[in-house]
Amino acid sequence: MKVDELPVDERIKRIIRERGIEELYPPQAEALKSGVLDGKNLVLAIPTASGKTLVSEIVMVNKLLREGGKAVYLVPLKALAEEKYREFKEWESLGIRVAATTGDYDSTDEWLGRYDIIVATAEKFDSLLRHSPKWVKDVKLVVADEVHLIGSYDRGATLEMILSHMLGKAQILALSATVGNAEELAEWLDAALVMSDWRPVELRKGVFQLGTLFWEDGKIDRYPENWASLVIDAVKRGKGALVFVNTRRSAEKEALSLSSKVSKLLTKPEARQLEELISSIEDNPTTEKLKRALKGGVAFHHAGLSRAERTLIEDAFREGVIKVIAATPTLAAGVNTPAFRVIIRDTKRYAGFGWTDIPVLEIQQMMGRAGRPRYDKVGEAIIVARTDDPKKLMEKYIHGKPEKLFSMLANEQAFRSQILALITNFGIGNFRELVSFLEKTFYAHQKGDIAALEYKAKNVVYFLIENEFIDMDTSDRFMALPFGKRTSQLYIDPLTAKKFRDAFPQLERNPNPFGIFQLLASTPDMATLTARKRELEDYLDLAYEFEERLYTNIPYYEDSRFQGFLSQVKTAKVLLDWINEVPETRIYETYNIDPGDLYRILELADWLMYALIELYKLFEPKDDVLQYLRDLHLRLRHGVREELLELVRLPNIGRKRARALYNAGFTTQDAIMRAKVRDLLEVEGIGIKVVEGLFRYFGVEMPGKVREAGKKAETRKKGTLDAFLK
Ligand code: ADP
Repeated sequence: MKVDELPVDERIKRIIRERGIEELYPPQAEALKSGVLDGKNLVLAIPTASGKTLVSEIVMVNKLLREGGKAVYLVPLKALAEEKYREFKEWESLGIRVAATTGDYDSTDEWLGRYDIIVATAEKFDSLLRHSPKWVKDVKLVVADEVHLIGSYDRGATLEMILSHMLGKAQILALSATVGNAEELAEWLDAALVMSDWRPVELRKGVFQLGTLFWEDGKIDRYPENWASLVIDAVKRGKGALVFVNTRRSAEKEALSLSSKVSKLLTKPEARQLEELISSIEDNPTTEKLKRALKGGVAFHHAGLSRAERTLIEDAFREGVIKVIAATPTLAAGVNTPAFRVIIRDTKRYAGFGWTDIPVLEIQQMMGRAGRPRYDKVGEAIIVARTDDPKKLMEKYIHGKPEKLFSMLANEQAFRSQILALITNFGIGNFRELVSFLEKTFYAHQKGDIAALEYKAKNVVYFLIENEFIDMDTSDRFMALPFGKRTSQLYIDPLTAKKFRDAFPQLERNPNPFGIFQLLASTPDMATLTARKRELEDYLDLAYEFEERLYTNIPYYEDSRFQGFLSQVKTAKVLLDWINEVPETRIYETYNIDPGDLYRILELADWLMYALIELYKLFEPKDDVLQYLRDLHLRLRHGVREELLELVRLPNIGRKRARALYNAGFTTQDAIMRAKVRDLLEVEGIGIKVVEGLFRYFGVEMPGKVREAGKKAETRKKGTLDAFLK
């Protein structure tokens, strides 16, 4: 189908043609003929890179131009929200306003009312729904990207509930990877189903064992014995390769070992480009390894890297500066990083108590990264048979069908939180109404019977009543209590809220960072750092040393909570170091964690600390305790000791700059306001931009001469500024 033949506004076609697209891919044409342009729901299950995004753009913009209202585009990751936001911005020339929102779960974000396309993570949109902003009633279309995540244990319930809420109220376009039961999903959503294996770049799949590469069509190629030869071969042909492994350490190890081989193939200009890339990366033990690998044109990619570093790697790989990435499977679920050749080193992973096979759905997503549209005629995806029989791997992962999706609504933690929200925020008035809502879910559709779910719901309702989240009046109608309503809006597990409330009396008596951090770490909303076997004794000693500061008893060794508790102690200790200004690098080394781990617990602790304060406010708070908590929150956010609190309130002043200013004698805001510009610029990390920001904040005009001088100097070389001003 030609773009010209599309039954949509001329302006939409013009923009698509401007992208160089004249002809729609076959599954795109099929999707757009399914009735979706006239408002029918659609499940589109086609491989990655086969143009799902374009279909959703056409459907969204067509709807917005015709009917007005809003479209919400749901993604599973923040990085994807940014990617889509950048893509959709292009429609602004038609007057369509695009916004992206991901953080802060306690907000109505009324400002979003001014936008037409809203890109959000599922969790963010779920939290928004709980605050019932006015603009929600204008949502006419929900696009759910990666909808197969409905089957994910921790995240599935959120997506399922959003769709259950929006079903019948807005049109739904669900974009999915190929799954075993797309029909079932489509039936539930009362949607047309378009399913296809069509890909813009042909995909060849095979299994590699000790030098023999068995292609799916029966052909055989020979290589040197080690699978690394597949990587070297790709690079020699001027192409890139992605290697998927099952752990972070394997990704690092393979990257370093491949790097020494790939480095020999680099040209001088390529090596220079890599040097430039390396110089833009911060120093810490993890990036030290990364930098060594990058020297040879290879990177590793895993959740231990910071978001900024991951983005840097993804971009440089797309540009061809990085030739090879060794990654954990998170990369396959993330932003678009196609490569000519994908090599899957591991098809098993360690989960809890043993090794399990990685699901077909996930392996197929990794394989789907093979082949760059417009650059490659064909992409190659190769599974390495290390211990398994190649025939078995071929059968399971290459010829086999991906798994079915199963509803994860009954996951206890998610369910508890969702039931509370239904009662406190979505006007479910009694048990009968609750049951009839549950009947609309994918769970109900799939099982055909919700007796088990009803039973679980009853238990949750008892729990909620018993703990004063909700109450029931004499005619059995639910009443939302302030504690429940606030818990739901704060987007935390009711169990977390209960733990907080139970700890308030002790906290009031003895507010202290360690006790509070252990409390945060003990909630189901916190991802704790695992205390390793050999560390247990150290953390037990620490717990005894700090026993008086804790709001809980130390469990006995036989207690099933023992190891979990020590992991909480470890996590609390990391947070304690952080607010005592222990340098990040020392934290990584001491606790043997990666930067990504620290960021993750800081982000979670920040949100939980906020929730703790908000809930404390509901229980006749003491002013001094409240102030203590707020200060601690600020210390946590910036990683500073108490004496720097005044300074980190200033714009662009974080833990490093605040410490430098303080040590240089600028210990208060007042001292900074009175300082000479020249003296401030002497302080490490303080440049003219920061000083300008400070002056603006104080409402003081910066002397014109100084500003000009500073700007000129800044455009020249760094480090000459002081000399220039003197
Ligand atoms: P998906 O969302 O399915 O992973 P995308 O929508 O991101 O895939 O599409 C991948 C690439 O293909 C994008 O660069 C997009 O511009 C391009 N593309 C989409 N549709 C067409 C088409 N009909 N013709 C040529 N290129 C297309």
